[in-house]
Amino acid sequence: MASQTQQPPAGMAKPLEPTRKKFDAKKPHITEEAITKSNWYKHVNWLNVTLIIGLPIYGLIAAYWTPLQLKTAIWAIAYYFMTGLGITAGYHRLWAHTSYSATTPLKIFLAAVGGGAVEGSIRWWSRDHRAHHRYTDTDKDPYSVRKGLLYSHIGWMVMKQNPKRIGRTDISDLNDDPVVVWQHRNYIKTVIFMGMIFPCLVTGLGWGDWMGGFIYAGILRIFFVQQATFCVNSLAHWLGDQPFDDRNSPRDHVVTALVTLGEGYHNFHHEFPSDYRNAIEWHQYDPTKWSIWIWKQLGLAYDLKQFKQNEIEKGRLQQLQKKLDQKRQTLDWGIPLEQLPIISWEDYQTEAKNGRALVAVAGVIHDVTDFIKDHPGGKALISSGIGKDATAIFNGGVYNHSNAAHNLLSTMRVGVIRGGCEVEIWKRAQRENKDISFVSDTAGQKIIRAGSQVTRIAEPVASADAA
Ligand SMILES: [Zn+2]
Ligand SMILES: [Zn+2]
Repeated sequence: MASQTQQPPAGMAKPLEPTRKKFDAKKPHITEEAITKSNWYKHVNWLNVTLIIGLPIYGLIAAYWTPLQLKTAIWAIAYYFMTGLGITAGYHRLWAHTSYSATTPLKIFLAAVGGGAVEGSIRWWSRDHRAHHRYTDTDKDPYSVRKGLLYSHIGWMVMKQNPKRIGRTDISDLNDDPVVVWQHRNYIKTVIFMGMIFPCLVTGLGWGDWMGGFIYAGILRIFFVQQATFCVNSLAHWLGDQPFDDRNSPRDHVVTALVTLGEGYHNFHHEFPSDYRNAIEWHQYDPTKWSIWIWKQLGLAYDLKQFKQNEIEKGRLQQLQKKLDQKRQTLDWGIPLEQLPIISWEDYQTEAKNGRALVAVAGVIHDVTDFIKDHPGGKALISSGIGKDATAIFNGGVYNHSNAAHNLLSTMRVGVIRGGCEVEIWKRAQRENKDISFVSDTAGQKIIRAGSQVTRIAEPVASADAA
């Protein structure tokens, strides 16, 4: 529906090109005017309001007088799934993303039941959806969640959209598909027949429940399938995790998947849109994927596209690394070495003699004043290192300190000793660990891995016990 209806669907499609509709370029579009008390009704797309709000209200009222038979209820649910699949497996994964190929009978089935969901023609829907992927979250995204959850769900259809604003996309492949072209040209007939008449025929001819079929399998089923698939644009960009990329809004959540026939793994989908799957784990709910797979076994679908697991895991790892970097930046790793003042060995000793509790380990000076009383090895041992080169003592000469101790020590550093063997030890240690010691995170901070702290020397000094 939506802008579909602003261009006469029948007989308009020559030549079929990705223009939205005829509009007068000189006349400013209504969306360029602010909404006021006197013009607000001009901003509303009344046909869509009738189809997605007015009709369901009528259905709800009529349902009060229409008894629901069990057979009709089962049929309404079954037809809900069929028309839902028309959108998810047909409109979305087959036509918008060409994530697999379908034989003509399957295409005709999907074009028919997809039409029964009353969400516009394949051609119109896919065009907007390609713009949504290409321009996600920007002003050219027809249903950008940045304009609000309600806007991305339904607002973009009930309010008029400026056709010049939507990003352009290539739909030449769709214009070459006779099923797509036929459905677009006969869209209104398809909607009336598949949306209303067909579900009603099944219940009427089947068990004489004409009115029940019209209200439950027709109008109310349309409402539920519409709201469910609209959730892909709203809920899937709002609720859940972002295991593959968090720069844009798409998210993965099982609730969205349950509502949308498996389209809820939307973070994955935006990263790998041409993959016929949305859920990649066997236990995740993706009936759309299961249906496509079954069609393949039946010879109805072929060329199912699937991204290599290696590429998928790379994406997942990079996002994990990004999260690790963010976590790392919240921690105190000590003042970076290059920002520490350079102090001569003599000055270091003088300051220590004057009462400042300074300990040099591997050419780095640490102020342990506040730590002496907490030292797990006792006050005496740590005090014995003050004013000395405690590199060997710290690294096994007396006690081979733990990884945590090296980490803690680095938060106490206050200076670097100029020249001398202590710095040489550090430089050598850095050289020997150079593969890992100079790796920086995304913020340019050096990554300090366990065992590669500057105070840890490559070969631990044999401890007194071991000797
Ligand atoms: Zn999306
Ligand atoms: Zn998509």
